[in-house]
Amino acid sequence: MTYKHLPPIGDKFCAIQRFRYCAQKNIFRHAIQSIFGGHNDSFQCLIKEHYLLGEQSIDTGLILSINAHLWGLIFPLISYGNASQKKYLLPGLLAGDIIAGHAITEPQAGSDIKALCTEAIATETGFILNGHKRFITNAPIADMLLVYAKLNNNLSAFIVERNDLGATFTETSEVNGCSTATMGEVILQDCFIPSCRLLGKVGGGNMMIQGALELERAFIFAGINGIMKWQLDEVINYSRERKTNGVHLGHNQAISHKIAEMKLRLDSCILWVNECARLKDANKRISLASAQTKLFASEAFLQSSLDTVQIMGSNGLIKNNIISTFVYDALASRLFSGSSEIQKNIIAALLGTGDGFKSHNY
Ligand SMILES: Cc1cc2nc3c(=O)[nH]c(=O)nc-3n(C[C@H](O)[C@H](O)[C@H](O)COP(=O)(O)OP(=O)(O)OC[C@H]3O[C@@H](n4cnc5c(N)ncnc54)[C@H](O)[C@@H]3O)c2cc1C
Repeated sequence: MTYKHLPPIGDKFCAIQRFRYCAQKNIFRHAIQSIFGGHNDSFQCLIKEHYLLGEQSIDTGLILSINAHLWGLIFPLISYGNASQKKYLLPGLLAGDIIAGHAITEPQAGSDIKALCTEAIATETGFILNGHKRFITNAPIADMLLVYAKLNNNLSAFIVERNDLGATFTETSEVNGCSTATMGEVILQDCFIPSCRLLGKVGGGNMMIQGALELERAFIFAGINGIMKWQLDEVINYSRERKTNGVHLGHNQAISHKIAEMKLRLDSCILWVNECARLKDANKRISLASAQTKLFASEAFLQSSLDTVQIMGSNGLIKNNIISTFVYDALASRLFSGSSEIQKNIIAALLGTGDGFKSHNY
């Protein structure tokens, strides 16, 4: 598959077009059974496709948007949805006609999901939701979001549609990094959600967040690895062409060693993502591997983005040059889907030490 003819980057309507272009290439159908409209192929196939997208689009924001849709709603729906929810929603989600994401973070609660305040109250025919979600990928373009809210003090998951009375999906560009992904807030004011849009069991939200984030952490770097490959190719070419003191830049060991380290980081990230795919394809757990992958790959992406700028000198900092934007993208990658510190907590907890990861999830 080729992603070389993506529509241009621009406003949120361009973001929708780029998203739909990828959907038309069937990017959302990998690792999904054919009974659900998928390709019936493996996670190995999924990561190959995402790598291609990363290498050809060199667009971290697009990768973030694609991943928010995939792990934020498609996979939770396949795992926890009932037959009619799947029948009603999966065709549109897989085709990209419906755009989605998930809304967990709130102004006072990021890493600590115990502190989430969005509240759901049960009525005879559904639920009334009140709350405020922040930093939500795809919110400005999403038709629906999986919103996590506390019902009787336990988290549950609700499919909230853009047109629901009392729901507002705003557009805010609050962060530097991944700027081509649209981001916004979700305001819920006495928003009525019919019973049929509760996803999974009442009180099952905590487990669903864990499952969604495990997958996102494991596989979001499949696409970003493609960008790291592009960075490597750029610095290799630059080091061959650029001359200092009569020799090409790469002749300096200080530069060639940086490039060697970039190669090592890239290949290590690829190995980690492959390991997660191998485990998923073998129906094995990925709790530890996905935290390790996310931690290693986001730190690697940051170091390689810094090295790319350094190798290119001031040329790497020229405004409107994509090269330096990856530094911010990489900083964002150390935070989204759970920060590097939280991944260390998870790894330590799974080794039977450190602070229990069940209390710090995102
Ligand atoms: C580009 C981008 C896209 C995002 N998309 C989404 C989305 O689609 N949906 C969504 O719900 N959220 C999204 N987020 C929000 C993101 O998940 C949170 O920013 C993240 O979980 C961290 O929360 P926080 O920013 O509130 O930081 P805090 O939780 O306030 O943490 C601040 C700092 O303290 C550290 N820290 C916190 N607790 C601990 C601890 N127990 N041990 C050690 N260190 C700790 C953190 O690592 C961090 O360095 C996105 C964020 C970004 C940047």
